[in-house]
Amino acid sequence: MPKKRVKKTARKKNWRKFWRLGMEEFNTQYFDVNESGELVVKEGYYQYNIMDIVRKYGTVTEVFFPFILENRVRDLIELFNAYIKILNYRGKFYYHYVMKSNQNRDFVLPAIAEGAHIEVSSANELFLVKRMLEKDQFNHKIRVTCNGPKTEQYISLIEELRGKGLIVVPIIENYQELHRLGKFKGEVGVRINLDLKVDAHWDKKYNHFGFDEEEVEKIGRIRNLSILHYHISTQNERIEGFIRPLKRAIGLYAKLKPHNPNLDTINFGGGMAVPYEKKKKLFSTKSLVSQMIKVAKKESDKLGVKHPNLVCEWGSYFTAPSQITIFKILCEKAIFKKPDTKWYFIDGSFIAHLTDTWSVVRHKWHFTPANHMNTRRLQKVWLAGSTCDADDRYTASGNYVLLPKITEDVPDLYLVTYDTGSYQDTFANNHCLVSKPAVVICQNGEVKLSRKRQSPEELGKIFGWNGDHK
Ligand SMILES: *Cc1c(COP(=O)(O)O)cnc(C)c1O
Repeated sequence: MPKKRVKKTARKKNWRKFWRLGMEEFNTQYFDVNESGELVVKEGYYQYNIMDIVRKYGTVTEVFFPFILENRVRDLIELFNAYIKILNYRGKFYYHYVMKSNQNRDFVLPAIAEGAHIEVSSANELFLVKRMLEKDQFNHKIRVTCNGPKTEQYISLIEELRGKGLIVVPIIENYQELHRLGKFKGEVGVRINLDLKVDAHWDKKYNHFGFDEEEVEKIGRIRNLSILHYHISTQNERIEGFIRPLKRAIGLYAKLKPHNPNLDTINFGGGMAVPYEKKKKLFSTKSLVSQMIKVAKKESDKLGVKHPNLVCEWGSYFTAPSQITIFKILCEKAIFKKPDTKWYFIDGSFIAHLTDTWSVVRHKWHFTPANHMNTRRLQKVWLAGSTCDADDRYTASGNYVLLPKITEDVPDLYLVTYDTGSYQDTFANNHCLVSKPAVVICQNGEVKLSRKRQSPEELGKIFGWNGDHK
């Protein structure tokens, strides 16, 4: 008898590993498979069963976990501060939550509660900051950096909030803004198009953001300049892609400092990679942070300048892993000329709900089922979305996604997409009039609906179908 039992356990697959769950290097350390093969998420000793959420709220549903966002913000701030101390660095560290990566109030407030400052990319995002300020929802010591084209509306809002005592720093990106903000009473920043390329998502020869290094050197003095800002790329998957730009920026900082005595900060923008579909792990945040502080210290000491404060504007790094999106598999279909793979149709859309699949960053995703995760019978699939567009599909670049085979034992299959918390909400659209997903929040052991799935009536209204047509 005992012999037999050993054999049985040996054959048992580690489903957790198989679906790449519970692994910090893929940001799935909070995810696990329960005994019935369903996906569960652990917040300390609280546990959320994703199928309970599906049974209650249906699909398509986005599930947001504030604790994941909070942990990431807290960990990064602590990491920078720890290395600043260990390496005896004399500048300070500020993390700015990137509003454009997710503007939902449910995301922004927890980040601020953990000590995040804010970065906005438009007047409308700054308007939301004004809303928070009016509600007395944050301390006036919070710093707000303002990127994006400075329209008159944007500038007057910046001035208004500054007048209310907030530290709002417009980042100047062209001569017109330089002129227009010439009399601005508060601190300003300047955006630099660094003269180097990194091997990342933006591999563009011509960059339309900010000033070239030479231009800024020629300008020399900028009134009230305190921040030198650059944003080199997004989804930057190598340490070198952060170190080289930082070194270069410190060189420029040293050149500008004599003309701009208040210049004391380097803002290194966003671009930290998310290991979306990675099979191998990326570099660790810890080694990146320690190397950045080392380089900042070494370079500024070499050039004889004060260690600059460092501002970080990583967006997706924080927001992406904090949310998942759940779809139902509607049906399967054979693929003509590809007998080993099948189409699985989802009740949502790659174009409308996971827009990054099809445009903008065009990255891949990590998928698992939400149920039947311990099934032995698997199927290679391509996923088809619900709109009429031929591009509304996911083939893992001609490869495949492995999911449970649909059989009598697996009649109802649900699909989970990971890392959907950044950008997808604003990129989302209503192609074929598909509804925006419902949003559910899991926090402190409670599950609550934060946004209902768009109804046909609501959708109709957006397009002028008010019912009475008066
Ligand atoms: C988009 C953006 C970011 C955030 O980029 P991620 O790739 O999400 O980290 C930061 N700063 C600026 C100026 C940006 O435009």
